[in-house]
Amino acid sequence: MKEGRLGVALVGLGAYSEGQLAPALQQTKHCYLGGIVTGNSEKATRWKTKYNLPTDACYSYENFDSIKDNSGIDIVYVVLPNSMHVEYVIRAAQAGKHVICEKPMALTVDECNRMIAACKEAGRMLSVGYRLHFEPHNKEAMHIGQQKIFGDVKFIEADHGLSEATGWRLNKTLAGGGPLMDVGIYCVQAARYVTGLEPVAVTAQEGFKHNAEKFNGIEESITWQMEMPNGIVAKCTSSYSEKQNRLRMEAEHGWLELSPAYSYTGIKGKTVEGKMSFAQVNQQALQMDDFAVCIKEGRTSPVSGEEGRQDVKILEAIYKAMETGERIILE
Ligand code: NAD
Repeated sequence: MKEGRLGVALVGLGAYSEGQLAPALQQTKHCYLGGIVTGNSEKATRWKTKYNLPTDACYSYENFDSIKDNSGIDIVYVVLPNSMHVEYVIRAAQAGKHVICEKPMALTVDECNRMIAACKEAGRMLSVGYRLHFEPHNKEAMHIGQQKIFGDVKFIEADHGLSEATGWRLNKTLAGGGPLMDVGIYCVQAARYVTGLEPVAVTAQEGFKHNAEKFNGIEESITWQMEMPNGIVAKCTSSYSEKQNRLRMEAEHGWLELSPAYSYTGIKGKTVEGKMSFAQVNQQALQMDDFAVCIKEGRTSPVSGEEGRQDVKILEAIYKAMETGERIILE
């Protein structure tokens, strides 16, 4: 902690850390970039210079555990391929640090349970990088849906796909799955936060594979349906070969649509009453600041480990539904 601000160490200096999180940390009010963890010494040197970091704030994956002795680092932010989240969240908690973990929280509910338990045991807080909870259009969608501003929600359509995916995202062992794990998770989140309800059952269908070799072991695209309480249905799609970015809610007396809905910037929204007009914000800065304030005030994060685990539970059920063709009931 420095002058009331909490130090954040980024673990994994890939596209998201470099393009979004490090710049966002320059805009936060309650945190600062306190350290980095990377396996690449060239990257370490570049970041050290760019962000004026002391040498003893730069860690490798091997000496990562000695981060426990660095009082300038309060929060460890795990920004690694999905399969590595479990190990680094647990090691961070055992080093006595609060933790932010990128989405999806882990590959299985069992891993999530171990991560939550490790943070609890260490007396440290855990949150997941769900930046859209701090984005005004999505917050308005939560308000309209949950407060039934247009009456009962009837129907949700949520689509999020990318036109291309490369690297570890195509590797089942590292990613845990295909576009559903990576970007479809935003649709699962949206259905939950717009209704404030949990799905009771899911069905799912795998899409056509244009390139079986490239998408070996993972889906290229997927369509799924989430049955929510009160007869609400969420119809969702996700893909690695088609750009999609939309959220639509139909209610008794009105509707809302965000398009794009899940981007870092440029989110636009309309409702039955007209165009939404909200300022653009730095979602990642707001997300990290909120977690820092949660830590200072001893308040649970709205994007807690339990919240992350619930999505992983639903993702597991969607894959089971896709593989078996059955309707999977969520307990
Ligand atoms: P990336 O491929 O750009 O970066 C991954 C980093 O992990 C790299 O620095 C790489 O060197 C490092 N790494 C360490 N061990 C590795 C291994 N065995 N294989 C591959 N890389 C290894 O990925 P990214 O886009 O930065 O994604 C990282 C995490 O952040 C993922 O969990 C992803 O889902 C999440 N993410 C979240 C958002 C968001 O909006 N919240 C956006 C992008 C990514």
